[in-house]
Amino acid sequence: MLEIDDLQVHLDADAGLVKAIDGLHLTLSRGETFALVGESGCGKSMTALALMRLLPENGRHAAGHVRLDGEDLLALPEGRMRTVRGGRVGMIFQEPSTSLNPVMRVGDQIVEAIETHTPLRGAAARAKAIDWLTRVGIPEPERRIDEYPFRLSGGQKQRVMIAIALAAEPDYLIADEPTTALDVTIQAQILDLIRDLQRERQLGVLLITHDLAVVSGMAHRVALMYAGQIIEMAPAKEFFARPRHPYARLLLQALPDAARRGQPLAAIAGTVPPLWLSFAGCRFEPRCDRAMSACAGTVPALSDEGPQHQVRCLLYSQPGEALPRAPADAAPRLAAPAPSGAPLLRVEDLRVRFRLKAPLFHPGPRHFDAVDGISFELPAGRTLALVGESGCGKTTSGKAIVQLLRRQAEVTGRAIFDGSDLFSLQGEALLRARRQVQIIFQDPFASLNPRMRVAEVLEEGLIALRPELDASQRLARLHQLVDQVGLRRDALQRWPHEFSGGQRQRIAIARALAVEPRLIVCDEPTSALDVSVQAQILNLLRELQREQGLAYLFITHNIGVVEYIADEVAVMQAGRIVEAGACDAVVTRPQQPFTQALLAAVPRLQAIQA
Ligand code: SF4
Repeated sequence: MLEIDDLQVHLDADAGLVKAIDGLHLTLSRGETFALVGESGCGKSMTALALMRLLPENGRHAAGHVRLDGEDLLALPEGRMRTVRGGRVGMIFQEPSTSLNPVMRVGDQIVEAIETHTPLRGAAARAKAIDWLTRVGIPEPERRIDEYPFRLSGGQKQRVMIAIALAAEPDYLIADEPTTALDVTIQAQILDLIRDLQRERQLGVLLITHDLAVVSGMAHRVALMYAGQIIEMAPAKEFFARPRHPYARLLLQALPDAARRGQPLAAIAGTVPPLWLSFAGCRFEPRCDRAMSACAGTVPALSDEGPQHQVRCLLYSQPGEALPRAPADAAPRLAAPAPSGAPLLRVEDLRVRFRLKAPLFHPGPRHFDAVDGISFELPAGRTLALVGESGCGKTTSGKAIVQLLRRQAEVTGRAIFDGSDLFSLQGEALLRARRQVQIIFQDPFASLNPRMRVAEVLEEGLIALRPELDASQRLARLHQLVDQVGLRRDALQRWPHEFSGGQRQRIAIARALAVEPRLIVCDEPTSALDVSVQAQILNLLRELQREQGLAYLFITHNIGVVEYIADEVAVMQAGRIVEAGACDAVVTRPQQPFTQALLAAVPRLQAIQA
């Protein structure tokens, strides 16, 4: 058994002592999947790092124990801890692009894990590595084993990370957002693989994820974290059928799907409080729609609310009168989408060809057609979702339209934006078009310059594309932008690394909005976010669309998000659009076998709620 007992983790930060984890108790048995869920910054990932003794330099274990089969990991010498880490306890990190060694072939990284932790050596270890690449769904594993990480897509890198973690045949696996970067079919395959290993080897899995549908399909027990503490812990079925904590209820209402289309999602106002504060009452009180007068002055303890069901909320231990507060979903119903008009963007026969750097006498093809002749139209004020598996060309299409591939690839076809072909614009006209067509990237960690404060990040585009604004007008615009995306104004003077993933994505959205675009290519803008933050971002995007008539080309693999936000859907496979049409028709009555398989792989929460 892996056991965390009264764990406290402190971080030294500029603002003071941050109590990142404050008295955490949980146990994980062999063969069990225990899910830790909660918003960015609530302490889920820090828990994983703490139990592997991988805390950042400014962090320390202030109190508590982490025991593996009775042995206290926090007291082990570092040499022994190294055999535990990656050997008995494997870990899949959230961020594959920074977790793989960029100067080592992927196969060597898997072989290293196999040779360190199993008796296999040499050719046998390499054969095993190819087997693992096959099991995690990497195509052509015999060839890809000798690739460097930069040759792989984000989803493929994540699958390599999973192969490395599993190759050491651990007893426990800590999986921090293991399938966030993957499309649904690969996600289904990876989750099946973890389930198989659980059956074969009694693998215990600590699953950290924001995807409640995945949790409902995988977890035996769930703990919901908030501001460094567990606030509800229950068997998964019980948690999804009868959530008790107000935060848990709001989270489940924040999930996007077809049923909530046209309505704002139950976004939870505000953010997780900074953990350098000391709390005199409930940490969720400022955001709670059921707060009572006692909540601000009494710290709730975890109380038993059923077999293995614990809740940290005064509603159950000291019930009282609710304070009058606006319900979280009191926002007005969103207006119906604008009727289809003349297209703002018309893409005709878009093709993107990458030249391959193959050796001179290499017999294979010398180019790769990532996008192979796609056409679609997108009217102002509408959302077209581009869906498909990773590597199908959807992100490449978006980047080509925003003209980020001019140097790397041969882009042909036409992208007519408001009457002008984006691909033939030069000089002043190109600058004008750049202002009107913006992009939000999938990865809020890689898309912000770490050496620029938030104000500089936002101001950069304003200076380049809106030179008519003077310094005070720019500052006023920066204030307006951070207000619009729900960040505090003091965020402007902070650095990107000081923010959680969700907050960074808001900064990225603010950057895109800074120059008042008419079309935004949203490349998986919510895939790295928690459910409640995702709801805030989706509400924000819909609100901006309603107010400003923005058009979105929405690239995603999340079908729930598609059902909620998209007017039309185009399904891509191997660089081509294989099915397109109104969202409702494509999602509920898919005609193509590929679309049918894609939809069948989507994890659904309803199954467990029924
Ligand atoms: Fe809401 Fe009060 Fe319960 Fe906290 S203790 S979650 S403020 S009702």
